[in-house]
Amino acid sequence: MANLAIGIDVGGSGIKMAPVDLDTGRLAAKRMREPTPQPATPKAVAAVIARMMQSPDLQGIEIAGAGFPAAIKDGRPMTAANIAKSWIGADAREILSNAAGRDLALLNDADAAGFAEMRFGAGKGVAGEVMMVTLGTGIGTGYFVDGRLVPNTELGHIELRGREAEKWAAASVREREGLSWKDWAKRVGEYLDALDRLLWLDLIIIGGGVSATPDKFLPEIKLRCPVVAASLGNDAGIIGSALYAAEKVKK
Ligand code: BGC
Repeated sequence: MANLAIGIDVGGSGIKMAPVDLDTGRLAAKRMREPTPQPATPKAVAAVIARMMQSPDLQGIEIAGAGFPAAIKDGRPMTAANIAKSWIGADAREILSNAAGRDLALLNDADAAGFAEMRFGAGKGVAGEVMMVTLGTGIGTGYFVDGRLVPNTELGHIELRGREAEKWAAASVREREGLSWKDWAKRVGEYLDALDRLLWLDLIIIGGGVSATPDKFLPEIKLRCPVVAASLGNDAGIIGSALYAAEKVKK
């Protein structure tokens, strides 16, 4: 019997979930996806998670983790850039554990994606400073120093060209403003360069839906430090949440 945990990725536009094989870092069944309810209130998100949890693929798996698009302190979101403001300060771990019908470990979504990439993906075995950057509805960052997570960095909100970076360079901005891949890649490059000039990184890993088509934008990005696409693609958040939950149970 495989060693399984459930991974949940709560995003600005979709809620994704799957059982994850903890030994291989692979999804053990097809991933499920539902649109994130709008507005993404605690009640509405919990209802979607409770419904998805009914899937036969998840029955009998006790360990579960969720990546959430906010800084998380002690199971509570501290920010809410792309979800309903009523999450701020709410006991999200309890709300989502009740919805999931099992104790759930909660962490930032980009931290979760980075967790998976460091263990099984593009960051495997990489020492020094690695930054996971997820480009989606917003920009998420997961910072790893010698393989160890420094949580809640929230560097998608640094100021760039007089505005919040994620409002200028997230993947959603490319679609909203109808930018060509090349023009958007220039913005992403400028953003990553700003991060590198502050932190002098050894590797940047790009995640989010765009990591499935790296040829469209990565060749345009020329930086001092190497920039690669997440090798687990957009499943990194699901996989990392499950790995993180399993680690918490061990402790
Ligand atoms: C949130 C982060 C999150 C990122 C990606 C940002 O707006 O503040 O917590 O990681 O979006 O979802």
